[in-house]
Amino acid sequence: MRIGVIGLGTAGITFISEIRRLKVPCEIFLFEKRGLSVFHPCSIPEAIEGKIKTEQLIEPFGTYQIKFIGEAKHVDPYKLSVSYEKNGTMDQIEFDFLFIATGGEIKIPYQSPKIFKATKYEDVLNIKNNIPYSKRIGIVGAGILGLELASALCNYPIEIEVFEAKDQILPDLLEKNLAEKLMQKISLKNIKFHFGKFINEPPDLDLLIFCTGFKPVSPMNFEIRVDDFMRVIDVSNQKPFERIFAAGDCISYDIKIPRVAPIAAEQARVSARNIKKILEGKEPDEKYELIIPPVLIKAFGYEIGKTARIHKPQNIQKLSVEMKVLPFDDRKLSIFTEVDNSGLIQEIQAFCELRSEVRHLLDISYISMKKKISLSEIRRFELSYQPEVCKFPDPITSFAEFITRRLNIL
Ligand SMILES: Cc1cc2nc3c(=O)[nH]c(=O)nc-3n(C[C@H](O)[C@H](O)[C@H](O)COP(=O)(O)OP(=O)(O)OC[C@H]3O[C@@H](n4cnc5c(N)ncnc54)[C@H](O)[C@@H]3O)c2cc1C
Repeated sequence: MRIGVIGLGTAGITFISEIRRLKVPCEIFLFEKRGLSVFHPCSIPEAIEGKIKTEQLIEPFGTYQIKFIGEAKHVDPYKLSVSYEKNGTMDQIEFDFLFIATGGEIKIPYQSPKIFKATKYEDVLNIKNNIPYSKRIGIVGAGILGLELASALCNYPIEIEVFEAKDQILPDLLEKNLAEKLMQKISLKNIKFHFGKFINEPPDLDLLIFCTGFKPVSPMNFEIRVDDFMRVIDVSNQKPFERIFAAGDCISYDIKIPRVAPIAAEQARVSARNIKKILEGKEPDEKYELIIPPVLIKAFGYEIGKTARIHKPQNIQKLSVEMKVLPFDDRKLSIFTEVDNSGLIQEIQAFCELRSEVRHLLDISYISMKKKISLSEIRRFELSYQPEVCKFPDPITSFAEFITRRLNIL
């Protein structure tokens, strides 16, 4: 039984690990165009800032019981085959199952030695080599990546200009008022934000870095869409291919969702578990429910984040609140939330300069959304208290207490 895995990123690695955990009897053939190593794209901003060495972005990957091939040039979904280059000529292998995890990529509209993106190892080397010769660096896009990069660069003695087509920072993530509140806190001397500015021509800067969002990469002749079981949909008849699964950033959606590692990992686990079911002669039964899992950003000393349901009920209340975190300290957790009539959280957005406060809030909110735990229950959770770490009652149960009172939910 041969499984072809295309892409050794978050989804590919998680898939292989889940297949092994489930003891699926198979031979794994791995296609990865970067070579046989693990790459950590999420730490690119830290590498650019100099908090970690660029080499630390890459780690070796053990090939135990894996046959490594190289780049997949093309996938034929009808033959379940993958074409690749071998000694200068094209060859192909047929499989019993295919798992596609080719990720996404940022498209750069112009070719110029001054223009980069910041998604690959070589991008980091190029940007770091150019920093000492740059006085003005432009960043296109004030989304997650753009903001983390601006923050990483702001400690260098350079002017940074951020160009954003929409009228706020993190436009696909934060509600406008919360984004403006955050913006007031992160205004720095050497950063200029230009809103409503769509870049048609490269501005006259020493370096321009595109952070304009990932476009899914497909090794087939059509874009990858999946059903609930993570099976790839055949564009010709809209039915799923029974033996081709996909996960992560390579999937196209009709709605905008943040491209983050936890989604890729969970979709990969669902794919592996469904393959096991098929091999046992059963129907796939694990579904992936698309949700915005906790998305966490670190920029300008703040932790910023969001988690949300995608399909929300009609009657929801929107509320903004600021919570104290420590007993003798005025720094606050700023929150925007959407709650339904029964007190179930539908969305949480937050920022705070105190470490891990946003993370706790997002993670507990995510669990409560997944498991349908209402704010009335959360307000009674016995969460931890230690006065140097948080006030009593802690910020999360206090938040639940406040919202349930405001909405008159018992
Ligand atoms: C700068 C940066 C910071 C980020 N920060 C965070 C963060 O803080 N938190 C978070 O959750 N997410 C973060 N992300 C997003 C996260 O890294 C991705 O969502 C996640 O890695 C997606 O996993 P994936 O497996 O779908 O794709 P990837 O991890 O991108 O893996 C795809 C792999 O497929 C390979 N490939 C593509 N085409 C082929 C082919 N034809 N043949 C063989 N191999 C191929 C690629 O070389 C690549 O290794 C960040 C991303 C970037 C770029």
